[in-house]
Amino acid sequence: MTDCNCIFCKIAAGEIPSRTIRETEEFRVVLDVAPATKGHALILPKNHYRNLLDLPQEMAQKAMVLAKETALSMKESLGCDGINLVQNNEEAAGQTVFHFHLHVIPRYEKDEQKIVWTPREFSREEMDEIADKLKR
Ligand code: 5GP
Ligand code: ZN
Repeated sequence: MTDCNCIFCKIAAGEIPSRTIRETEEFRVVLDVAPATKGHALILPKNHYRNLLDLPQEMAQKAMVLAKETALSMKESLGCDGINLVQNNEEAAGQTVFHFHLHVIPRYEKDEQKIVWTPREFSREEMDEIADKLKR
């Protein structure tokens, strides 16, 4: 289950060289080619899934376990002070490569990177309505 036009399928399959830092039967973890910080990595499933909305539950669970292991090894080997997990889904959310990937970004005191949003305000009624819609 790969997409022959997808660069991350080729990287995950090892057809395009990458700096692989971890590999399992179902995933390859590589360094991002344009890293936000020293050690910025991407968790890539070897099968093609467009994004989280398309990812089977079991693969989502495994991706998070890999993220934890990768984060621990970044702390140990790079001495980072924190970790961000970032995962973009669809263009509106900043996704640029349409093959599921989970960013694991080591953070360092004073690394001068920012992963930001601007807090917005909603009325009490709007917040109640949103919560009602989302409740399961
Ligand atoms: P997105 O914005 O879709 O969440 O992130 C895509 C990420 O893929 C970016 O951080 C970008 O630097 C990275 N990227 C794009 N092309 C390549 C590539 O060919 N190799 C690697 N290792 N990373 C890539
Ligand atoms: Zn793909």
